[in-house]
Amino acid sequence: MSEEIKKLKEQLFYKKRSVYEVRDDAQIEAAMRFAEGYAKFLDESKTEREAVAAGIRILKSKGFKPYKLGDNVKPGDKLYIDNRGKSLLAFVIGTESLECGIRISAAHVDSPRLDLKQHTIYEDGGFGYLKTHYYGGIRKYQWTTIPLALHGVVIRADGASISVNIGEDENDPVFCITDLLPHLAKDQATKALDSAFTGEGLNILVGSRPYATKDEPFDTKSPDERVKLAILKALYDKYGITENDLISAELSAVPAGKARDIGLDRAMLGGYGHDDRVCAYPILMAIAELEAPAHTAMCIFADKEEIGSEGNTGMKGRLLADVISELSKTLGADEHIVRANSICLSADVAAGFDPLYPEVFEKSNSAICGCGVVLTKFTGSRGKSGTNDASAETVARMRRIFDEAGVVWQTAELGKVDQGGGGTVAMYIANHNIDTIDLGVPVLSMHAPFEIISKVDLYEAYLAHVAFNNK
Ligand code: MN
Ligand code: MN
Repeated sequence: MSEEIKKLKEQLFYKKRSVYEVRDDAQIEAAMRFAEGYAKFLDESKTEREAVAAGIRILKSKGFKPYKLGDNVKPGDKLYIDNRGKSLLAFVIGTESLECGIRISAAHVDSPRLDLKQHTIYEDGGFGYLKTHYYGGIRKYQWTTIPLALHGVVIRADGASISVNIGEDENDPVFCITDLLPHLAKDQATKALDSAFTGEGLNILVGSRPYATKDEPFDTKSPDERVKLAILKALYDKYGITENDLISAELSAVPAGKARDIGLDRAMLGGYGHDDRVCAYPILMAIAELEAPAHTAMCIFADKEEIGSEGNTGMKGRLLADVISELSKTLGADEHIVRANSICLSADVAAGFDPLYPEVFEKSNSAICGCGVVLTKFTGSRGKSGTNDASAETVARMRRIFDEAGVVWQTAELGKVDQGGGGTVAMYIANHNIDTIDLGVPVLSMHAPFEIISKVDLYEAYLAHVAFNNK
């Protein structure tokens, strides 16, 4: 190839860059250290409630104070709203007029899991089980034969809130859904994956020792729900709750155990709930360090994204609009102008290209792990249906911000056209007349009990949000 053609190609072709070719060793080390804080956050944030609580702990340590709708605010204030313990808005009031717009970053903190039904405990064949109703898009077979922990709250009729967390401490028991042995799986093995495992079949093994006393020993001939009784007795002894109380409970079975480094080089992190805590953590850390920025910055931990963002803790809810309205009122700004000039990074994960399954990806438009944070113009399915298709102007604005700050970023869509699809909270925020675009970290095995990310991508996401907040 002649020098001329080589030069021309360099000038005209797009080239995806790896973080490892752009960053020096000290920067890579910084990324590895950042991931340690993230791994800790991941371990303590397995439900949206836990993520909100962990987020508030971090915000408080950085001087953030609780805010109520209607409170007066002034530039430099660092505030947060705890929305029913399940979603969170944090913001730092800027020194410029609110009408210059707010820099919003929004991630979700709910993840696919197995919620317990309200009538959940039953006994069969000498075993105690919990019935579940799965939450979000799971591949059901992945949730069998792995250790599960129970997380959540039980609200007693008197209003007392009891937190439940069983299965994370190494001395705790864990729970499990059984599967067939291969020796007897002939029929199951020939079924399609989506019919071989059913939602009603995802019942969790929680006990096997019948309740017995000296006077009334266990009798196999009339088992009499003694295993169920023993389980309820254990719950009563530990938490003071009865079967009735489980009606007003939000208990979820999630994969038990901590996030772990992946690989001999420890460059990746495996864990439950990267989608979307791998974006929630960097947006939180980026806002937590802001001191009196020019533009007001806001960070959102949303609930319910995995089931359609409905309700008053999801992004279809009114809270964001109400907060902007109240802030506008107290700062003497017109809320419509504030929204029109605001811009949002919908921080959600991308599907990382997986060389074991290349057939579902179109490689040139796929997110490559290790190539930085992913800017996604649109999501959706079947011809961009159900998406916020960000404007080219918004894409250009982000390119400028990231390139000026030296952020390593790439652009991608989910996979091959018509192979499937997905959505994020982007469209619900854009519907408020706010320019919005998706930005996130590539994930392997998305929605599996154990998802994988590259630590350098996580760090580039953080740097991207820092650049965004300061621009
Ligand atoms: Mn997500
Ligand atoms: Mn998801």
